[in-house]
Amino acid sequence: MTDITTHLFINGELRRAKSGKVIAQVNPATEEIFCEVQSAGAPELEGSIEGAQHAFTESWRDLKPGRRAEILFQIARLIRDNTEKLAQLESRNIGKPISDARDEVQLGARVFEYYAGAISRFYGQTIPVARGGLDITLRQPMGVVAAIVPWNFPFPIACWKAAPALAAGNCVVLKPASQSPLTAIMLGVIAHQAGLPAGALQIIPGAGSEIGDALVQHPSIRKISFTGSTAIGARIMALAAPELKRLSLELGGKSPNIVFADCDLDQAASSSPMSVFANTGQDCCARSRIFVEQPIFDTFVDKFVAATRGLRMGDPARDDTQLGPLVSKSQRESVEEFLSSTAGTITGGKRPSFKGYFLQPAVVTNVEPAERIWREEVFGPVVCIRPFDDEKEMLAEVNASPYGLSGSLWTNDLKRALRVARQVESGVLSINSHSSVHVEAPFGGFKQSGLGRDLGMSAMEGYTELKNIYFGE
Ligand code: NAP
Repeated sequence: MTDITTHLFINGELRRAKSGKVIAQVNPATEEIFCEVQSAGAPELEGSIEGAQHAFTESWRDLKPGRRAEILFQIARLIRDNTEKLAQLESRNIGKPISDARDEVQLGARVFEYYAGAISRFYGQTIPVARGGLDITLRQPMGVVAAIVPWNFPFPIACWKAAPALAAGNCVVLKPASQSPLTAIMLGVIAHQAGLPAGALQIIPGAGSEIGDALVQHPSIRKISFTGSTAIGARIMALAAPELKRLSLELGGKSPNIVFADCDLDQAASSSPMSVFANTGQDCCARSRIFVEQPIFDTFVDKFVAATRGLRMGDPARDDTQLGPLVSKSQRESVEEFLSSTAGTITGGKRPSFKGYFLQPAVVTNVEPAERIWREEVFGPVVCIRPFDDEKEMLAEVNASPYGLSGSLWTNDLKRALRVARQVESGVLSINSHSSVHVEAPFGGFKQSGLGRDLGMSAMEGYTELKNIYFGE
């Protein structure tokens, strides 16, 4: 691995933190520290917000839309040109299988392309009002946006916050997770090389409990776009309340996978393992509760377990690896605690003999709905499977979760698909598929899974204030 960029990226420059504090980066596949990243403190936080404010008023806000779009397209081009470097960094930083990391870099580029194109299709309305005259609406940028992102999909989530915010004319101060800052720093450098004015996208790694809190509360921050746990999301909401700051929150999940007896059983069973075990289960959309209609329960479980055994776990650097390690020692221990708490029957869930924070995927049956492992987000390679007889009772249990992010539904009965899809309390649902994320479509949760939407035109709306202007006759 060559030339890893480990500095803060502020006002178009790579900088060291005044405090000299660093964050050690551990490769979870080897358990070894491979670099140290500068950790922003109060002076860097202040400097980055001030610089972003300056870039907003002096260059970015008033740049012609066509030029703004050109810069975003150029960012996408440079991301694509740097795919291998970004993917290698991500894979080493969090243990993500390299093929997934490459796909996620492409996704990040696609997000910039989408919002570059969206700039010319994002406009207000002309509204016929009762008293005549002309009434129009404008979508105006907010100013400086704070983007706080997690470690499980560091690069794409950084892109799907930065791209729509910039497209709408805002400037962004982005705080990556302490465990995964490397590709975000590189995104800042790439965006600047692509022509983004200095200060328009600042990257400040640092501890969430210190600079994260201070960033959220800073009076110049007009909007906070957060992806992470529900607990921190709730904290941010409380911190944002005194100034009524705009918020979008993408939080945790405990998504259902509902399998009816009339579905294509082979397709449902063979595709379902990766709907929960991809990214080693560290996925907010992981379908970690499977509801299977009683007549096909045993066959489904057998096929699911067989398909799970076929998944290749190992060195994330190998092209054919499907399952990497968990992100950290503590994340693996937390997952193991869930497993040791259940009275259910566990298949898998053991540590393999090789080094790294690996854990075999665990399939848990005979689990009771009151158990922690069924109710709480595990954020690791664990699935619980329960049978159901009655559609109404199953739906009541699906919706008993405080979360409502994503889910899947398998049936060949169109009427049932629509009826059940309407009743599942989640922001995203796929029928006969496990796909949750489409760049062009809104992504986000009901209930404690969040507030507001990422992606699609909804995200761009979320980075603007809506102004109404009336011209008298
Ligand atoms: P997390 O602990 O909530 O951290 C997320 C981000 O918030 C990190 O950058 C973290 O910084 C920062 N942070 C921590 N404390 C903060 C504070 N007091 N003020 C401001 N920022 C603070 O979540 P995580 O463990 O990284 O990610 C896992 C969670 O994210 C899961 O619950 C998962 O479901 C959720 N997630 C949701 C989505 C979605 O779209 N709905 C997508 C991905 C992940 P440090 O790293 O420095 O602590």
